[in-house]
Amino acid sequence: MEQVLVLLHTDETGGLPKAGLEAVAAGARMGAELGGAGFAVGIIGAGVQADANQLAGCGASRFLVADAPELAQSRYATDAAAAEAVARQAGATIILAPMTPRFARALPGLAHRLGGRVDTHITGLAAAGGTPVVTRWFYRQRIEGALQRTARPWIILLDPGAFPAWTGAAGTATAEAVPLAFGPALTRTTVAGIESPAAGQQTIRPDADLLFVAGAGWTKKQADGQPHPADAEAFILDFLRRSRASLGGSKSLVDLSGEGHAVLGFMTHMNQIGQTGATPRHPKGLATCCHGEEPHVVGWRFITERRAVNLDANCGWARGKADVLYVADAFAVMKRVNELLTDGN
Ligand SMILES: Cc1cc2nc3c(=O)[nH]c(=O)nc-3n(C[C@H](O)[C@H](O)[C@H](O)COP(=O)(O)OP(=O)(O)OC[C@H]3O[C@@H](n4cnc5c(N)ncnc54)[C@H](O)[C@@H]3O)c2cc1C
Repeated sequence: MEQVLVLLHTDETGGLPKAGLEAVAAGARMGAELGGAGFAVGIIGAGVQADANQLAGCGASRFLVADAPELAQSRYATDAAAAEAVARQAGATIILAPMTPRFARALPGLAHRLGGRVDTHITGLAAAGGTPVVTRWFYRQRIEGALQRTARPWIILLDPGAFPAWTGAAGTATAEAVPLAFGPALTRTTVAGIESPAAGQQTIRPDADLLFVAGAGWTKKQADGQPHPADAEAFILDFLRRSRASLGGSKSLVDLSGEGHAVLGFMTHMNQIGQTGATPRHPKGLATCCHGEEPHVVGWRFITERRAVNLDANCGWARGKADVLYVADAFAVMKRVNELLTDGN
């Protein structure tokens, strides 16, 4: 019988990331679907009793905690060693974990240590014949495949946003401490600090309800024969500040910025969506001044409700892929939207 372990880590605040709560919900379902064997939760971090308590009502049969000051921050050597200790103590055959940057780095190494296998970017999970079936996308999100494995332990990294997050009442969890020994070789890499843009400049927000996609039209000549990049920048940044939306861009637009043109300086290749960019998951999407196939077809693949603003009523991709197309000047639309947001509407 399979033994399911949901492996989690704390984030820089000491709490559990949303992607971790999604893994808990997926694990609870998997444990039940695999024939009632239940599931265990393992938590890696420093001072994790409160995190275990948060999950007290999730239905886990055991809470295994790798609790040490060395685990307060992400570091491959200590994370892989702690994950190995938890997995061995749990006797896990199926390990579900959120595909956070921290686990994306450490858990392939865990598979090697345990002589198991790892699959990444898993977006669907079911049980068939007492064993899990996972789904993931191939060829830049164009083909969806389902697969099973006989090798154990099988480590399954779940894409954030693909599963509903577990919610439930906190309580008091009985945590089993997992013995850890970190020699000097494991801790010789130290984290000096984290460099990230100031909160106001951060434009990629995976947890946002809305993905705002900007296309190259924002930099093109407008009705008066002139481009208006300064207005475009002001409208977009103002909207992002007010709405807390996440910013995506078409390839044409991010390439322009990368070449040092004086347009939308805050836009980088990290913002690009599409076939050669990202395919983020948000409940809603709004594309503006964007015509491309790749942003609309591939970049929007996992967006639930999609709307577009384009001057061109015949823009085939916006018409074909948006639920609602507003044929309008995006400069005028976003100016008015920002005014409405200012009014608190
Ligand atoms: C192999 C390959 C991979 C690619 N991968 C990607 C990818 O991952 N992501 C990606 O984005 N592209 C990708 N592309 C490029 C893609 O095919 C398009 O060229 C690109 O997406 C076009 O960008 P755009 O829609 O922003 O610009 P444009 O095609 O220039 O469209 C601009 C739009 O803005 C509209 N517009 C202008 N002014 C206004 C206004 N005031 N109000 C409203 N609308 C206005 C215009 O009507 C027009 O529809 C790839 C191409 C290839 C060949």
